[in-house]
Amino acid sequence: MRYDILISKLEFFGFHGVLEEEKKLGQKFIISAKLTIDAPNAVEEDNCDKTVNYSDVCHMIGQIVEKERFDLIESLGDAIARRILVEFPLVESVTIQVDKPWAPIGLHVDNVSVVITRGWHNAYIGVGSNMGDCQANIEAAVKYIQESEFNRDVKVSTLIKTKPYGYVEQDDFLNGAIEIKTMFSPEELLHFLQKIELDLHRTREIHWGPRTIDLDIELFDNLIINEPDLIIPHHEMHKRSFVLQPLCELNPYLIHPVYGEYLIDLLSKINN
Ligand code: AMP
Repeated sequence: MRYDILISKLEFFGFHGVLEEEKKLGQKFIISAKLTIDAPNAVEEDNCDKTVNYSDVCHMIGQIVEKERFDLIESLGDAIARRILVEFPLVESVTIQVDKPWAPIGLHVDNVSVVITRGWHNAYIGVGSNMGDCQANIEAAVKYIQESEFNRDVKVSTLIKTKPYGYVEQDDFLNGAIEIKTMFSPEELLHFLQKIELDLHRTREIHWGPRTIDLDIELFDNLIINEPDLIIPHHEMHKRSFVLQPLCELNPYLIHPVYGEYLIDLLSKINN
């Protein structure tokens, strides 16, 4: 069963702010939270162990507000949201409001606040390599993904050997797909994957040319994004069997949000 837990106006004293006085003297911060929970048996069994203990959540929020220091209340709110998602696996998404009623702006103001929302999303990443030890390159990329606290439940498909696509004068590729639950936004996930590509010394001399590692976001929930630097679903996925086949192995009932068709049906269209 899915339900929300609402926490209103927890009051703490902390030292967040840009000004030296704020860092030294401190001030009042008020935190409110909305936690969306998916707890299959808590209500049916009337069992506290099967839900999220809101007292634990409140005390953890207090630790962050009182012990850590941020210039921005945005950063404070995001740190609280991320910690809740990591520490309480039943929480699907969380909205945090940080109020700063004593904000030193030189005017009378009742309150200044920020509201931050984070949650777990289902994302599918295409991975390919055709330089050096391809298996080791892909394993290294998977390790980066697993080790980030922003990701969990990482599953990797079988890796398949495929002929190069586009620029064909190069070695065969090893391709696969990775399923993750992630609390990154799509743009944050793109930057995270690009940093892994850089760390693994990806070279980019030839378009569609040899690469130690290529990581593409294929799907992100059922979002459709068309920005200059980010297109989701990946604009080539429906044409590429080396992308669709591993994705179908992970989840054959994924639906392409633009074409409205099962990926397994898109795959059989290419293969026929
Ligand atoms: P590639 O050489 O195939 O890795 O392409 C990298 C470029 O594609 C980058 O400039 C990205 O900003 C852009 N891009 C657009 N959509 C995506 C996506 N869904 N996943 C990864 N890169 C993307």
